[in-house]
Amino acid sequence: MTSLTRIFTAATVGLTIFLCFLLAATAQAASANRPNVLFIMADDHSAAAISAYGSKINQTPNLDRLASEGMRFNHVFCVNSICSPSRATILTGKYSHLNGVPAFNRFDGSQPTVAKHLQGAGYYTGMIGKWHLGGSPTGFDYWEILPGQGVYSDPAFLNAKGRHVIEGYATDIITDLGIDFLKSKPKDKPFFLMLHHKAPHRNWEPDEKHRAMFAGKKIPEPPTLRDDYATRTDAIRECEQKVFYDLTRKDLKLVPPADLVGKERVAWLKVKPTEVEIVENGKTNQLTGEALNSWKYQRYMQDYLACVQSVDDNVGRLLDWMDHNGLATNTMVIYTSDQGFFLGDHGLYDKRFMYEDSITMPFLIRWPGVTKPGSVQNAMCINADFAPLFMDAAGLKTPPEMQGRSFVPLLKSEHPADWRTSFYYRYYHDPGDHNTRAHYGVRTETHKLICFWKTNQWECYDLVHDPLELHNIYNDSAQSGTVAKLKTELFRLKKELKDDDQFANQLPSQGVD
Ligand code: CA
Repeated sequence: MTSLTRIFTAATVGLTIFLCFLLAATAQAASANRPNVLFIMADDHSAAAISAYGSKINQTPNLDRLASEGMRFNHVFCVNSICSPSRATILTGKYSHLNGVPAFNRFDGSQPTVAKHLQGAGYYTGMIGKWHLGGSPTGFDYWEILPGQGVYSDPAFLNAKGRHVIEGYATDIITDLGIDFLKSKPKDKPFFLMLHHKAPHRNWEPDEKHRAMFAGKKIPEPPTLRDDYATRTDAIRECEQKVFYDLTRKDLKLVPPADLVGKERVAWLKVKPTEVEIVENGKTNQLTGEALNSWKYQRYMQDYLACVQSVDDNVGRLLDWMDHNGLATNTMVIYTSDQGFFLGDHGLYDKRFMYEDSITMPFLIRWPGVTKPGSVQNAMCINADFAPLFMDAAGLKTPPEMQGRSFVPLLKSEHPADWRTSFYYRYYHDPGDHNTRAHYGVRTETHKLICFWKTNQWECYDLVHDPLELHNIYNDSAQSGTVAKLKTELFRLKKELKDDDQFANQLPSQGVD
């Protein structure tokens, strides 16, 4: 070997080593820069009970922090407004007819999910709290879930080792488990944590501290609490999720006579009371009619809001812990709910219907360096977009089978010219627990069209002039052109999303408790 060749070879080896070092360093830097993702999801938390959304009924200073330090989304929608289907859509980025969870069906854990994709890309993944998809979570390095709906007090949890009970209040415990996860995660990996609260799901059971904050407090009634359903189809009249008629003694926290035990006690609690005896200032009052209706709304909301207040406190505790442990700067933090909820709107509690209060998910997101503090986004997103968003944040492309779209540009206050201006909705759980008719529909930026397909009954709303959705204009001849355009859009989306009525008449039989 000549000296020139030796010098050249040495230089090549040196260059190769340098390049390898550079590549490794770049990969490490890219890995180090990938954000952690903390996805906090409540169950049935309406945006109307968050002060960042202009709540008239409560204050949520800790959730508001995410809005003031990040971005508030006003139009994030659930494509099938019920617990299990929303969770399946969030995990898969797909609609119910493609992920196999149109109602309360066991989730097929062998299918790809955002957790599996992130885990495969080097993320440390965790799932804590309400799962409600049956079976064991897949794609998670760590999981600790409530069985079924779970309970508020001294809840049981399931993990890879089995079942165990943790004493305390579910919202506090789930937060504690989340902090434990952050403490024990590997130092060299970014994390993806789904932290799912049970609260404020029915039967709205607050802890003592927060119950006391709302006991006896008069909550303002929503303007549509006494909606007379004029111009509507049969569905809303027939449904069994009405504050005045369908809340049970258990929901209203009425105390059974001491001598009632076992099945008799359970049966007593299931009754939907038409008269209630209450003791106020040492005086016994028999409530019926309108007085009882008003009282029922107050009881419902006092407990619901007290459950929300515990969630707010616990989110604050978690954010503080992250601040003190250097995790705030490189973590995308989200607060949302699996769907919206009726807080007496249209006289209802629960969700399911395609009306705004039910389909609107609160969505607050803080991602330092990306979301401008205090910013607001009005573009239309759906829960199928969450999986693509998390993957995009981690530098991963959206898999072709996912039906959602990453909204990272929206987080930067950029608005892609081809961003969606309409979305497709489909609810299946009919008659379900609340006798709510199956329906599908389309929502645009200005209108909503709903079809209860089993009876071919339709509703249409002008969301600009009638934001409370009180006037069904479907049969208004002056609106026939608008209705026709909406129908075209509805069936275009249905086809594009490959909804072939797979579950229109029969739901998958294997359920979750
Ligand atoms: Ca829910």
